[in-house]
Amino acid sequence: MTIQWFPGHMAKARREVTEQLKMVDCVFELLDARIPYSSSNPMISDIIKDKPRVVLLNKMDMADPGETKKWLQHFEAEGVYPVMLDAKNGKNLNMVVKAAEAVTKEKFERLAAKGLRPRAIRAMIVGIPNVGKSTLINRLAKKSIAKTGNTPGVTKKQQWIKVGKTLELLDTPGILWPKFEDQVVGKKLSLTGAIKDSIIHLDEVAIYGLEFIQQYELETLNKHYNIQVEADSPYIDIFDAIGMSRGMKNKGNEIDYESVVELVVREIRNAKVGRYTFDRVKELESTDEAE
Ligand code: GDP
Repeated sequence: MTIQWFPGHMAKARREVTEQLKMVDCVFELLDARIPYSSSNPMISDIIKDKPRVVLLNKMDMADPGETKKWLQHFEAEGVYPVMLDAKNGKNLNMVVKAAEAVTKEKFERLAAKGLRPRAIRAMIVGIPNVGKSTLINRLAKKSIAKTGNTPGVTKKQQWIKVGKTLELLDTPGILWPKFEDQVVGKKLSLTGAIKDSIIHLDEVAIYGLEFIQQYELETLNKHYNIQVEADSPYIDIFDAIGMSRGMKNKGNEIDYESVVELVVREIRNAKVGRYTFDRVKELESTDEAE
């Protein structure tokens, strides 16, 4: 489901997450491993404040493994606990529990020192639409949904899902809005399927994606589409080459650009051309330095 966000929606989402946060010991911030910066909510730190946080880089199966490693190091250096994940195929689920234990260790030691009985860690998932929140909850839930009835302070009925012996997860994730302010971020969000096709012009998205692969993996691009373009070929030549190679022509025997655009976006979105990470740690760090 893709939501059109307006200020009212954002305020409501923030209110709901803030309310749910009162019930948990830590937060799982779910990000798309292909765009860890662009898929983060712009106000996440303000919203979760000093609650222990785990960053889950989901869809690792579609991201560039080398870049994912760099992102993990980047988060570690920032003092955030990161885990890479493939919720769809259930990879690294045990790491999620371990991470929750690690970030809440101090709190539980403090509680134990006060003589309080040990209890399960309570956590919730937050993230922008389509990042994989429901998929992860379903994966972690298996069949063990623990009914606890109404939780005070929240109008909707909340349930806790038992994940092993040590973790309880809120069954409803916090849905937060994506970044809007930047055109490039918008293209990356569209290219990874996080926002509706109608928000950003699909031509722009296809051009961005093709030029990215042209810059980083020219050989793969040529091989995948069975074309021969150069590192400095203009995008229109790449469209033409793909259209020719795939026989995408309209009645007048001209390249059917609309079909080429749709094909390219769909294939990049589903990692059919290769595994790419569109947010590079390096770029992020160089903007930090510039500030
Ligand atoms: P939500 O809006 O955050 O709850 O996102 P969903 O759980 O509905 O997932 C959005 C899409 O991403 C679905 O088509 C999922 O199958 C897919 N998805 C979720 N996690 C992964 C993953 O780790 N790898 C891949 N390849 N797809 C995933």
